[in-house]
Amino acid sequence: MKLVVKFGGTSISSVKNIIEVAKILHNLSKKNQIITVCSAISGVTDDLIQISKFIQKGNKDKAKKLTKKIIQKHKQLADDLIKKPQNRKKLLEKLNSDSTELEHLLHGIILLGEVTPRSMDYLISFGERLSINLVAYALLDLGSKSIPLTGKDIGIVTDSNFGEARPLMDTTRIRISKIAEPLLAKKIIPIVGGFAGADQHGKFTTFGRGGSDYTATIIASCINSDEIWLMSDVDGLMTADPKIVKSAKVLKEVSYVEAIEMALFGAKQIHPRTFEPLLSKKIPMRIRSTFNTKNLGTNVIATPDIGTKKTVKCVSAIRNNGLIDVRGGSMVGAPGTAAKIFSTLAEVGVNIMMISQSPSESSISIVVKKTDLDKAVSALEMNLLGKIIKKLEVTTDVSIIALIGSGMRGTIGVASRVFGAVEKKGVNVVMIAQGSSELNIAFVVKDSGCKSVVQALHDEFELAKIN
Ligand code: ASP
Ligand code: MG
Repeated sequence: MKLVVKFGGTSISSVKNIIEVAKILHNLSKKNQIITVCSAISGVTDDLIQISKFIQKGNKDKAKKLTKKIIQKHKQLADDLIKKPQNRKKLLEKLNSDSTELEHLLHGIILLGEVTPRSMDYLISFGERLSINLVAYALLDLGSKSIPLTGKDIGIVTDSNFGEARPLMDTTRIRISKIAEPLLAKKIIPIVGGFAGADQHGKFTTFGRGGSDYTATIIASCINSDEIWLMSDVDGLMTADPKIVKSAKVLKEVSYVEAIEMALFGAKQIHPRTFEPLLSKKIPMRIRSTFNTKNLGTNVIATPDIGTKKTVKCVSAIRNNGLIDVRGGSMVGAPGTAAKIFSTLAEVGVNIMMISQSPSESSISIVVKKTDLDKAVSALEMNLLGKIIKKLEVTTDVSIIALIGSGMRGTIGVASRVFGAVEKKGVNVVMIAQGSSELNIAFVVKDSGCKSVVQALHDEFELAKIN
């Protein structure tokens, strides 16, 4: 089988974990052709972003210190990880040359005193550039053949939209097969750095946070792999957050569209564009844990078995949000009102998580992250209050609760079961939204009612017995 296996940052965060990963790959490679994609070691991308912030604030000593810390961390891991002296020596040489490049870059950015989107991507691509060396040499130490490659090395070509690049799939496909196929034929396991590629001028670009998942699916599509596995520290997609519902279960099978919805809400955060490259080729994806390989995790496929097409598959909650209710008589029948409200929020960089408007058009409710609430409210007050908006009402501490499952489509009575169960808990529903895809019903309650409502809905739809 041709397999793309991606490991998240926590899967390679210690010597013990890296050895575990290397063993998994070593065993898998006996019967399969494998390409591996790795994230940065957990915390490293955050540190690199912090370095850019230090530089912007003129805090160059702190930036240098944190850079040293990152380099030291990788060298220490290398030292403890690799047993064969020859391998250890080569790995340290590789880490030294990458570290020197990082230090030169840092020096350059400090001199400029500003971090452009282009240099930012160059900087944050180093998390993966460093981590892949450790995994590749751990495999060499076990006697497997392996090579560390950056996204650029393996042939991922993107547009020049730094920070949120998109792959140029046709060029990428040609390059990746040219580079990867000979390696696979020689039984060499490429360890590819996720998250970053390069534009047509060879400048490093990144896909946005969590982008290593996306790297993995891009590669899977380009080499026509039979399966792709996303290995992390969670067992799979679940029927609910196990911290809220004790009887929550790992879902055995979900569709791509369901997984896309669940990825937004669940414990396993997946890059939003991850599924795009898989859709046309219908490559199955397994979401599973590095630390519990007996468990097969969740299989994400195009069309799940009829048997598992339950109406509702999971109940998730996004906590700690703020709700803004915007009212005003002059909003009624005035085209462009919603556009003005949303663009006002967009201009201050506030992401809208959920909206609903009553057909009378006299009010629009908007949910934003609690951390964005102040910014959102003051932007609306300054720009629109007294004009198209008459009144703003704000509720802090609300939770969005979402039920996801494609079986809800066309099924009569789901909403009544949902709100019946909420009513029995004596919790008030503040706002409701359902897209016409009927894949998702979402509603808002005060955070104090969140846990009991999630539990009640998990019971109502018997999700503990789902598989
Ligand atoms: N290292 C990157 C991040 O932390 C990409 C990834 O882990 O997927 O966002
Ligand atoms: Mg990650």
